[in-house]
This record gives sequence, C-alpha cells and structure tokens, in this order.
Amino acid sequence: MRLDRFVQINTAYSRQQVRLLLAQGQVRVAGKVVRDAEVRVDSFVRIELQEQLLQDTNAVYLMLNKPAGIVSATEHPEHQTVIDLLPEHLRAGVHYAGRLDLKTTGLMLLTNDGLWSRRVTQPETETAKVYLVTTKDKISSEVAEVFHRGIYFKYEDITTRPAELELISDYQCRLTLHEGRYHQVKRMFGYFDNEVTALHRESIGAIQLDPDLEPGEYRTLSTDEIVLF
Ligand code: URA
Repeated sequence: MRLDRFVQINTAYSRQQVRLLLAQGQVRVAGKVVRDAEVRVDSFVRIELQEQLLQDTNAVYLMLNKPAGIVSATEHPEHQTVIDLLPEHLRAGVHYAGRLDLKTTGLMLLTNDGLWSRRVTQPETETAKVYLVTTKDKISSEVAEVFHRGIYFKYEDITTRPAELELISDYQCRLTLHEGRYHQVKRMFGYFDNEVTALHRESIGAIQLDPDLEPGEYRTLSTDEIVLF
C-alpha cells in the first residue's frame, strides 16, 4: 500500500493533510524520514507519525552462528534444526535464507519476511558468500585459477560462476562464491580430490557474522543490516 494511503486510513487526517505532514518530514518509516507519498509499505515495517506509532513491525530478522550437527530445516525427525535454536516466540513463520550443510558452521540469516529472504537468495543478484575452508590435503597452486574460471557440474550441466580464492595457509583458504549450489564448496574441492574437513560461512553480502556470537547464539539484525537486501 502507498505510504500516504496508509497514514490516511490509520489517522483522522485528510489526504491533503497527510501530504503536508509527509512534506514536513513528520513521517518515519523504519526509523527514517520519508517524504515520498508513493513509497510502498507492507506490514513488516515500523511507521511513525510525529511521536505516534502507527504500525509496529512484526517482522523478525536474525543472524545465527550455526553450530555443526544442526540441520538447515524447519523440522527434522532426527536432528535439531536451526529453528529449534530459537526461543518459542520467535519461531512462527521463520525460515532461513540460504542453507548450510549439517556439518557447516557460521552465518545463517533467518526471517519471517519472505520477500526479504527471496532478495537474499535470488541468484540474479549474485550475492557474495564468503567461506573459510579447511582441507585434508594441501591446496594446490592452480586451484585459485581453476575456481576463477569455473568448474563444470555435470548433474546440473552448468559451470560455476567465477569464485575468488585467497590462500591463508597450505590447508586453509577464504573462498567467495556468487551462487549457492548444493554442496558447492565440497564439490569444487572434490574436483581436485581434496576433502573439505571444515567449512564456516563468514558473510552473506555485506552482512558479517558477529564475532560476539558463540555457536548456537543468535541476535536480531540492525536496521542498517536489514536494508542491505
Ligand atoms: N558449500 C558446501 O559444500 N556446503 C555448505 O554448507 C555451503 C556451501
């Protein structure tokens, strides 16, 4: 719904009065002054008129430091899920934006806002995902170049998008992917017969895993983080 219409139906002001209030900078959306009457607002955003709260947000945006052994699912017969790590009052409608394998640790984004999670995961945006990768064997010198060129995945009949590899030590690197295919990192190293022994996601786009979060802990995203997608 348009912002001017939203304010009008939630107050006693006329359309003209609402437009004036907007022009005067009296309306805040998600904490920021918005003067544009045509901006579209949904039920996931906090809207204030002067000091009056017209709509509180019921949206949930979280980051979680996923521990190993927790499954990326909403329900599972065997394993604890990422949703089970949240308190009861935060679970309704909450889903993850970008899965991690059972043993993979690190940043997961969780929300009940389907449009937002779609923006995080839609392939067209080529959002960078950064992983810390530890391998069984030494990472050979040609890996970075081959990953940059792309690896052919027969099952999907695709070549992976150019990925950037920064070597940290003989057995560890930081790998940036711009897509999220099934077991992608493991399969890319599988091309070199090198087993991934530990995998940790550090960031999704500009959202970094908060270093204060212990495995299994979560926190709500700040407005600055939410608007990155
Ligand atoms: N690539 C993988 O192989 N596993 C993950 O969990 C994420 C990326």
